[in-house]
Amino acid sequence: GLADLPPVESDSLLQLIALCNADPRQEKIDVGVGVFRDGVGRTPILPVIKDAERILLETQETKSYLGSAGDKRFAELIRPILLGDHADDNKIAGVQTPGGCGALRLGFELIATVNPQARVHVGTPTWPNHPPIIRAVGLQIVEYPYYDRENSAVLFDSMMGALENARAGDVVLLHGCCHNPTGADLSPDEWAAVASVCAERKLLPLVDIAYQGFGRGLEEDAAGVRLMLRSCSEVIVAQSCDKNFSVYRDRVGSLFLKTGSEETTARAMGHVFQRAREMWSMPPDHGAAAVRLVLDTPELRDRWPGELAAMRDRINAVRKRIASVDPRLAYIGNQFGMFSMLPLSREKVLALREKHAIYMADSGRFNVVGLGDDQIDRFTAAVVEALDA
Ligand code: PMP
Repeated sequence: GLADLPPVESDSLLQLIALCNADPRQEKIDVGVGVFRDGVGRTPILPVIKDAERILLETQETKSYLGSAGDKRFAELIRPILLGDHADDNKIAGVQTPGGCGALRLGFELIATVNPQARVHVGTPTWPNHPPIIRAVGLQIVEYPYYDRENSAVLFDSMMGALENARAGDVVLLHGCCHNPTGADLSPDEWAAVASVCAERKLLPLVDIAYQGFGRGLEEDAAGVRLMLRSCSEVIVAQSCDKNFSVYRDRVGSLFLKTGSEETTARAMGHVFQRAREMWSMPPDHGAAAVRLVLDTPELRDRWPGELAAMRDRINAVRKRIASVDPRLAYIGNQFGMFSMLPLSREKVLALREKHAIYMADSGRFNVVGLGDDQIDRFTAAVVEALDA
């Protein structure tokens, strides 16, 4: 019976949150958290979203079903932001999903439907939720080396070497920008080289882009996605608006796919809708409707990039401050997105927790904007002490 179920090994990040919450020390620092925070530790609702929600409250006339495609206008409006010059390519179709996670799951479901023998090449380290999602659809994972934590460098040659062993039809999972957990993104030349390997060896790139606009800018952060679309006849993109519109719990994302023709894309989308109906029938509406209203209301559309830039500017300002403290932390100024890794052993990470009430993942991953403005100096001093020890 149900009582026979074994306990689930609990997510280590969730454990970390519980430990931090239980710590009575006033001065505790939570850099384990996975969301944007402002200088005083809040994750505010963007003013453009508040305004869109007001419009929604006043104008929405029904909550009747929308169907498994969800909000079609939402997906149409995301197209140019994500795809740039490829927005008019009728070989590319997109659909609203419950967040980036829903997009990833749906993308892998589609792959498992068409090619259950496909192996998924996943960089190490990667976001800890990637492997469980891939395993859940029954696909096999093959790891490729991605990042050397000790030298704070992308292991590009090793990565390319590993991809030489990929078989036609295999999937290559890539982070579009703001790599989680390392902050280390591929350079434009490296993207181009990966795109060539994918095209030559008939590998299917699946680009996960959950932080567009958190790195260099909306356009710059989408360059990798667009390079893949230029080079490869088949591409899958799992996109999230949860960070760049700050609507995390409302679960807003989309899945885009490109195949060799408009007709084959339409057929693939038929399977996408079928898989979506089996899993969630249709995606939740509210967050996507709010994002749609922001993008469809000229005054709000004009304000959004500025509100996004304010989040990006804080991330990059905190990075610069940390980087200026010690040459061993300088690499943090050259990385992007909310996360970077510190080359600290598990013991040292635990010692920071005990001694300084600094909560970061065992891997040394920390969220740069988990730091309030008044916490940065104490954090860097403790980290430098740990590096010296
Ligand atoms: N991919 C990566 C790399 C992420 O870090 C996240 C969020 N933590 C997601 C996808 C999915 O985000 P969500 O489902 O909240 O939109």
